[in-house]
Amino acid sequence: MKKAIYTLAFIGALYSCKTTQTSKENQPVIASIDLVNVEEDKVSVSVDPDRFTSDNTTFYIPKTVPGTYSTDNYGKFIENFKALDYDGNELEFEKIDDNSWNIPNAENLDKVSYQVNDTYDIEDEEGVFSPSGTNIEAGENFMLNLHGFVGYFENKQEEPYRLLIKRPQGLIPGTALSKTVAASEDMAFKEDIYSLGRYFEVIDNPIMYAKPDTTSFMVEGMEVLINVYSPNEKYTSESIKPGIEEMISAQKRFLGEVDNTGKYAILLYLSDSEKQDARGFGALEHHTSTVVVLPEAMQPEQLQKTMTDVVSHEFFHILTPLNVHSKEVHYFDYNDPKMSQHLWMYEGVTEYFANLFQINQELIEKQDFYDRISDKIKSAQQFDDTMPFTEMSQNILEDPYKDSYYNVYQKGALIGMALDIRLRELSDGEMGILDLMKALSDRYGMDKPFEDEELFDDIVELTYPEIRTFLETYVSGTTPIPYNDFFTKVGLEESETEINTGYFIKGQTPYIDGDPAKGELFFRENIQFNSFLQELGVKGGDIIKTVNGEEYNIQNVYNLIMKAESWEEGEEVSFVVMRDGEEVELTATTAQPTDTDTTITEKDLPESSKEVKLRNAWLKG
Ligand SMILES: [Zn+2]
Repeated sequence: MKKAIYTLAFIGALYSCKTTQTSKENQPVIASIDLVNVEEDKVSVSVDPDRFTSDNTTFYIPKTVPGTYSTDNYGKFIENFKALDYDGNELEFEKIDDNSWNIPNAENLDKVSYQVNDTYDIEDEEGVFSPSGTNIEAGENFMLNLHGFVGYFENKQEEPYRLLIKRPQGLIPGTALSKTVAASEDMAFKEDIYSLGRYFEVIDNPIMYAKPDTTSFMVEGMEVLINVYSPNEKYTSESIKPGIEEMISAQKRFLGEVDNTGKYAILLYLSDSEKQDARGFGALEHHTSTVVVLPEAMQPEQLQKTMTDVVSHEFFHILTPLNVHSKEVHYFDYNDPKMSQHLWMYEGVTEYFANLFQINQELIEKQDFYDRISDKIKSAQQFDDTMPFTEMSQNILEDPYKDSYYNVYQKGALIGMALDIRLRELSDGEMGILDLMKALSDRYGMDKPFEDEELFDDIVELTYPEIRTFLETYVSGTTPIPYNDFFTKVGLEESETEINTGYFIKGQTPYIDGDPAKGELFFRENIQFNSFLQELGVKGGDIIKTVNGEEYNIQNVYNLIMKAESWEEGEEVSFVVMRDGEEVELTATTAQPTDTDTTITEKDLPESSKEVKLRNAWLKG
């Protein structure tokens, strides 16, 4: 997951699979987390397994978790590791690497204990994407992405877990999990007890502890919980509920009978732009919940739009990978993961659905939908268009592939669109990609993974022989997708027009970028600037120092974008930029910025033409 500081369109990813198998014979692994006695922003944790019969074991904290597609080494945030025997004496251990501790005398081992540091208040969060990161703020907020807190012993990932979380009075958990609660005698704290079938369920169920702000609603038999943490109380769960309710209702109608989740929790953490806080904006999906991190400074309308895009994407993961995934996903190895070739489907098709359902359910206008497609084409152009998507996916944790990760939401979605149009064409409008995904989910389902190598064969069997050519040319092949050929089939065309832009962003594409190492903001090179930036005299590579006297960097870039949005036309603004090592002052008068843009528009064709009929089947199918 890349921290595109301004781009909110990016999201987390893949899940693995839930098999509920609470074995009765086994003593659960008991993990205790103390949120009451927090010292220096660190939380104490102990993990107590059943008695070992082997004379050696290794304790792990995940290196990678499903959905992030990045190596994050959560063990880096662990301190004061101790292995303890049944009398409380310390046992010897050897730290093997960031994420693993070997304990030789395992038969004497009672439990391990350690302290956990959080990621949100570390500069740059050590590269951990905030929705999979952790927050520890005593008495105020705890973001428990549990893979950052609770580890597992070698070969014990499939054993049941019991989580005991001691929390202060005044904070409540937001989670899709059910719990039982015990209170201390003096009522100073409570202990929440959660039972989980296996380690995967521990990490699949994030919990956010915060002051109570919960609301819920029912959609066709599914309960949706919303928990919001807004540090300056700008937003409440009630304030975002109407938009979420409209969206999830529309998603349920779009999906039809596929979805079978009984409860879904949305945990929204709004980050404070005035202090050191989470800066990786987006979300990470889980089977029955999602963690969303966004700037609290966002305006209500923008927050709603972003929540719609981000949460709908996460919710559509119910289809894939939850119900359609390969063995690599199903048997995820947290410390030595093997990646599947099919990110184009897990992420790309999911992202495509998150846009398609909005036009299908009339939440947006057709032109909005075409503009989104157009933005994705432009974003995808920033990546190597000949890199086979399957090869990139399989190697996504390595160079040079990992830098292409963001493209799974761009070109991945466009693969979904092109495949959808091709299927509609071959079936005379009858079959689209949603039908294909439903057929795959009938064939597989959440407990039955497919073989990575066999997915194309399955798809061809369920659709048409021509689809093999499509997949082998544009997904596993090196040929760029000729988008115009697909648009022609549905009566669309690309044309150049003049459009209004933001001061710093055109559609989804910003004119500025950030250097994470230096924290600097700069104007991008080799792009055309909008009319305002041209008037200002900006050059590619200019580093932004101040705007109207205020200093800006990666940390507060959102404030800059927000401020610019409130500029009235006719105001004098002044920028100080560094150009070739010298400070340069630039001034201009604000006016609605414009830029030229390639847009997708409908050709003027009769309603009865085959193109318009196919278009209607595609968008309204
Ligand atoms: Zn995703």
